[in-house]
Amino acid sequence: MSVINTKYDLPPKDSRCAVCGGPLQFPFLCWDQAGSGSDLCICGECCHRIKDGLMADMIQIAAILDMRKLRQLSDHHSVTLVRRKYEELEAEGEKREQDEIAAASTIPRLTPRGNR
Ligand SMILES: [Zn+2]
Repeated sequence: MSVINTKYDLPPKDSRCAVCGGPLQFPFLCWDQAGSGSDLCICGECCHRIKDGLMADMIQIAAILDMRKLRQLSDHHSVTLVRRKYEELEAEGEKREQDEIAAASTIPRLTPRGNR
C-alpha cells in the first residue's frame, strides 16, 4: 500500500475512490495490485471511516488462510473463523450446561442394595 501525500507521489490518473466514488484528494491510499495495472484507491475520508472494520476483516481473512495452511488440520479447506460476541458464547455455554443438567436429572438413579 502507498499513502499518496502530494502530486509528486505519482497518483494514478483519473482514479476515484473505490469506496465512495468521490475524487481523490491528498492524502489518500493507492495500492498497486502487483503490477496488474489496476490500482485500488481509497480517499482519506473513507480510510478514516472504514479503517477499523476493514482492518478487522482483513485480519480475519488472513487468519483463516493461515489456519488452512496448517498441515495438521486434515479438513483444512472446511475450517473457518467466525467473529462472535462474547455474550453470545456465554449464553450458548449456559444453555448447554442447563441442557446437560436437565438431561442428567432424567436418568434413573440406581439405588445401592440394602439402602431401601
Ligand atoms: Zn471515498
